[in-house]
Amino acid sequence: MDIKITRTKNPKVKPQDESKLGFGSIFTDHMFIVEHDKGIGWHDARIVPYGPLCLDPASPVFHYAQEVFEGTKAYRLPNGEVGSFRLIDNARRMNRSADRTCMPALDEHFQVEAISRLIDLDRDWVPNSEGTSLYIRPTMIADGKNLGAHSADRFIYYVICAPSGSYYPDGMKPVRIRIEQRYVRAVKGGMGRAKTGGNYAASFKATKEAMDAGFNQVLWLDGREQKYVEEVGAMNMMFVIDGKLVTAELGDTILPGVTRDSVITLAKDRDMVVEERRISVHELYEAHAEGRLTEAFGTGTAAVISPVGELEYNGKSIVINDGEIGPVAQMFYDILTGIQRQTAEDTHGWTAVIPRY
Ligand SMILES: *Cc1c(COP(=O)(O)O)cnc(C)c1O
Repeated sequence: MDIKITRTKNPKVKPQDESKLGFGSIFTDHMFIVEHDKGIGWHDARIVPYGPLCLDPASPVFHYAQEVFEGTKAYRLPNGEVGSFRLIDNARRMNRSADRTCMPALDEHFQVEAISRLIDLDRDWVPNSEGTSLYIRPTMIADGKNLGAHSADRFIYYVICAPSGSYYPDGMKPVRIRIEQRYVRAVKGGMGRAKTGGNYAASFKATKEAMDAGFNQVLWLDGREQKYVEEVGAMNMMFVIDGKLVTAELGDTILPGVTRDSVITLAKDRDMVVEERRISVHELYEAHAEGRLTEAFGTGTAAVISPVGELEYNGKSIVINDGEIGPVAQMFYDILTGIQRQTAEDTHGWTAVIPRY
């Protein structure tokens, strides 16, 4: 499929102060769009000036939340070029999420090409300062004019890009996490493994209540027994217990993070023992009491690694590694950011340089 490019006639003024970029409120000059109609398939792939979508108020996305998305980043490389990280894995996950929500797949290599062409066109928007990046948000929504409670006939896939500030402008800082006991995020047979907006809507209330109580995020427990830890906000969770890297096993209820997979792969490369299995809150508290739980951290595209300094469950807090960043979290942060910025060797073929088309 050809991609038709219409350049903006009114380029926006780029933010001058990269320390004030923040996240997700400034967007580049262009966006990618492709549409899907029943009997036709995907058609009219194009890059156009960034701007509002015109959707019918009866569009299923507004009523039944038939929507999935992705999140990845492009990085300014030391030589001035722009690099990407595991784009194909985000494209694959997009299609798996789309399948779960009854939406059509879009060829994975085509997704990578579309995103790469968009980044190329907006390459001057990729910020330069340490820790900054161009955040990329591919999205698929159900469109059309039909309130029938079944899958839609029309779909739109689009990609927008936001220059983003450093996640850690004041240095990496461990966070306080509440283990959520009232609300659940995902259940067996549900949509937890799909990156879909509805999972976020379901999580905001718990997160707000935790934030009001002074925590940064909630750690979700399994939806059935509420005994086993699953993941945090938009991050997977890892623990270092007896020197082993322990994380919840994938299944219906866990989002298969690209960062999670990267950390597991890098850990195995270094002969670290990795266990993907169920982890109960009881086990965590017991391991902590015995001095065997030495680190906890989240993994996700936004933060890369987010060390956890404190966990709270049922009013009882445990402080991990004296509330400091641990050596394992720091090591994975350094290696992964090095690979992403292409200053460390990439032995897995995860990175690419965005071509000049
Ligand atoms: C996106 C996301 C993650 C992290 O995935 P990455 O690919 O590592 O960014 C983890 N949990 C949830 C619920 C997510 O939506």
